[in-house]
Amino acid sequence: MNTPHNLRPGTVAVHIGNEVDPATGAVAPPIQLATTFRHGADGERLNGYEYQREGNPTNDRLREAIAALEGARTALTFASGMAAISGLFESLPTPARVVMPNDCYVGLQIYAAEFLPARSITVARVDMTDLHAVRSACAGGVDLLWIETPSNPLMRISDIAALSEIGHAHGALVACDNTFATPLLTRPLEHGADIVMHSTTKYFGGHSDVLGGALAFVRDDDFAKLVAHRLHITGAVLAPFSAWLTLRGCRSLSARMAMHCANARKIVDFLANHPAIERVNYPGIASHPGHEVAARQMRNFGAMLSIQLVGGRESALAMAGKLRIFTNATSLGGCESLIEHRASVEGPNPSSPQNLLRISVGLEDVDDLIEDLAQALN
Ligand SMILES: *Cc1c(COP(=O)(O)O)cnc(C)c1O
Repeated sequence: MNTPHNLRPGTVAVHIGNEVDPATGAVAPPIQLATTFRHGADGERLNGYEYQREGNPTNDRLREAIAALEGARTALTFASGMAAISGLFESLPTPARVVMPNDCYVGLQIYAAEFLPARSITVARVDMTDLHAVRSACAGGVDLLWIETPSNPLMRISDIAALSEIGHAHGALVACDNTFATPLLTRPLEHGADIVMHSTTKYFGGHSDVLGGALAFVRDDDFAKLVAHRLHITGAVLAPFSAWLTLRGCRSLSARMAMHCANARKIVDFLANHPAIERVNYPGIASHPGHEVAARQMRNFGAMLSIQLVGGRESALAMAGKLRIFTNATSLGGCESLIEHRASVEGPNPSSPQNLLRISVGLEDVDDLIEDLAQALN
């Protein structure tokens, strides 16, 4: 590959992994669907490929793009974000102890509660914004410190540099779920993390039409190689067509993030002054408890926010029901704006406040979005 690596992230997003196809000169990458590749005379891999589960050219383009965007030595792609998470956790030597946030992606909470104990992995949940609490949780032993920032759905900000220092002082690997921020806003490896995890289903794909996950590693060491080997043997690999769609998303990621953030900022300014809103959770607000850390480790504050309404659960459900442009649906990071009552989807013991709605700000004209919010609040 001849693209220099000292390029800025916006250029990396457009070019890395998108090199012109040497066979045809095609400017857009081909999708390689082959499951098997011809051997050489001695049974060797002629072009570096043998069987799709063990690697294929379209996936390799995406892995290269994600590694370059995160400033990582190597990256792996998975069938989903949860496949990436479980691929990492299940590669830990056991018994293991994991310290993770009490406010994190619900799928990880369920996985940790239902599947990790049987694998001799114990989990301590802690408020990651409280460094003293993290230090005491780590003092009990820690093999993996898990960070998610901004967190879901309260948009808490964790200080990646401070947490990495604590984790490393206790001999832990430090991993960060960077799904909400994307490498265009935060590059956790630059702040000391060892591994970055993505649900590429969200902003990377960007169009709510492709599931995927990724891990990016600061070192291509034995652990990274073990995770790769496990993936290729257990088989939760990303399909080539999904890799191709995600690679397509990479090309516009920088432009989309800029507009997502600009739209979110205007919506936050509108909502923060509205009498029907009790509270807006968004790290770009100066009074947000994580604002200073966010300003240090993020290039912009993202397009995920949550609001808490005056009048409790009924007001929240009523507002979600009245919106015409925002779709009431889960997930995030697509072109269309989404809104969701988190407590309703969290099962019998929701951790989200009942008056909370989570918003993924999309790429519509922001004045239409604000008018829609205004009519739903009146
Ligand atoms: C969606 C999501 C995941 C899980 O990813 P899937 O692609 O749905 O498996 C993990 N972390 C965060 C922050 C997410 O938003």
